[in-house]
Amino acid sequence: MTVYKSTFLSCDFDFDVSGKNYGSARLDYSDDLGVSRVFPIPIATISNGSGPTILLTAGNHGNEDEGQLILRRLIHELDPTDVCGRIIILPALNYPAVRSNRRTSPLDNGNLNRSFPGDPENGPTPAIARFVVDQLLPLADAGIDFHSGGRAAKYVTTSFLCTCSDPEIYRKSFDLAEAFSAPYLYVVDGTKSKTGFDPVAHDRQVPFISNELGGGGVDREAVQIGYRGVQNVLKFLEIVSGSEEMNDDRKDTIYLDAVNTGDVLYAPYEGIFEARVELGERVEAGQTAGALYSLDEVARAPKVLKFANSGVVCIKAVSARVVHGSRLFMTAESVTAEEILGLSEV
Ligand SMILES: [Zn+2]
Repeated sequence: MTVYKSTFLSCDFDFDVSGKNYGSARLDYSDDLGVSRVFPIPIATISNGSGPTILLTAGNHGNEDEGQLILRRLIHELDPTDVCGRIIILPALNYPAVRSNRRTSPLDNGNLNRSFPGDPENGPTPAIARFVVDQLLPLADAGIDFHSGGRAAKYVTTSFLCTCSDPEIYRKSFDLAEAFSAPYLYVVDGTKSKTGFDPVAHDRQVPFISNELGGGGVDREAVQIGYRGVQNVLKFLEIVSGSEEMNDDRKDTIYLDAVNTGDVLYAPYEGIFEARVELGERVEAGQTAGALYSLDEVARAPKVLKFANSGVVCIKAVSARVVHGSRLFMTAESVTAEEILGLSEV
């Protein structure tokens, strides 16, 4: 057992014990008033025999509940005797953000998914990122980080794959996303920003995906898809025996290329936006997205906003109330699986 210790975070959890085990990493933080508090970041392992290790995390953004539910359910429903290998689960990774039901940490306003590869000394959120990089990723043969749209946005239920410069790691990550078998597989450029969990995992040679499971309130179907998805990946990696349930669904997967065709429609001023398309709908360039009404000037004619490019609507703002710069929609073109695999060369 190795004991981890940094300025903000310590962990003496033994990841090598067989069976189902619970513990925590300890985040220590004192505020302006000198009040010292401990935030226990929960850890569970389910392990048995020899086999690969998968790292499963949720609560990277604290107000995204779907993955937190899915991983808690998995902890309680999975029997260690059905496991060949090891499952490391942190269902509330940025625990201070989870506890305050916020996207970011109340301690330092840190967005964990913009804090990688982390820093052990530069505040609690970078310290959590560094703990992941130094302590958890070296144990992992694969990983999944669970996300959703939180309060602000709703996503199509999708696996989320970052491109990377290593074709083998990209291919293995693509295979994880395929095994997850969500209705959509959404690909973004992971080669430019290295502050996210996925690109850093790829840099450490760990095949890794994340997902976006709805948002704007917990969607029961998205939770079911996510729960089935993680079970599918466990079977794919042969950590759990049994055939994957949703193989037949893969032929229906919609592959979205946000690397080359991702397009965002923003609100040009504050107002109330009447959306006229739905999530999952295919739109054409020039098609009306909706009408924006001024909040104050009732006599002002609404501005009709149009999509600049064609694509599938994959993200939609939850609220009609928008300010200048609010993201209303995001679209990306659907492509083939072969085209998705070719993106490793961009
Ligand atoms: Zn998120």
